[in-house]
Amino acid sequence: MNRVELVTKPIDHLTEGLDEFVPANERHLLVVLPHPDDESFAAGGTMARCADANVPVTFLCGTYGDMGRRMGSPFFATRESMRDVRVSELREACRVLGATPRWLGLRDRTVEFEDPHDVAARIRDHLDELSPSTVITFFPGHAVHPDHDALGHATHLAVRTWAGGRPNLLAVAVGDRADIRAKLGPPHVYCDVRSVVERKLGALAAHRSQTEMMFQRWERGDEDDEQTRTFREEMLVLERYYRLPLD
Ligand SMILES: [Zn+2]
Repeated sequence: MNRVELVTKPIDHLTEGLDEFVPANERHLLVVLPHPDDESFAAGGTMARCADANVPVTFLCGTYGDMGRRMGSPFFATRESMRDVRVSELREACRVLGATPRWLGLRDRTVEFEDPHDVAARIRDHLDELSPSTVITFFPGHAVHPDHDALGHATHLAVRTWAGGRPNLLAVAVGDRADIRAKLGPPHVYCDVRSVVERKLGALAAHRSQTEMMFQRWERGDEDDEQTRTFREEMLVLERYYRLPLD
């Protein structure tokens, strides 16, 4: 299915019963995820839509992604250059999405070994400064990668214990969709990203070390099973979130 077909195809069957995320109602969107590229996959369209509505968008990136195993196709990064490569890729992705990057400075692939209360305290410093109306993070325990789960947990803790306000806390669950639905039920909120799909793709492409192979596979159309196709089609039309309770 080409992009024009995707953008013009109705999405009602995907959004039924879900609340629509309305950028115009926002004051500041803060996205807290552990790796450069998580933001573009998980919330790139929501970020671009907020930027279009003149809502400030900040991506607080947990780590520098320097332990990533993908180094380009063909390789253009080394373990030594990885941090610089991923920092500049993220700066470019944020430029495309209209977001400002910040760094928590945690060590890649070891977020689960940090004290969540320490990490939460550091996130609260950013909450104090930015006073976001919505915070997006990963759904703790349903985000596949240990760094994702750990930073989702610390972010949930940070927002729950923040005295400065009650932002909406939206969580991204990762993995097999039927499996997620069986465990968590349907998501609560969706953001229609069809108007910003080119920028979401541009931001993903900016993370060249991580996404070049994926785009090559997409273009070739091989290894394309039903689940991959569905994932790709849905990520280009909407982003879905669970509301995390703050009590
Ligand atoms: Zn990640």
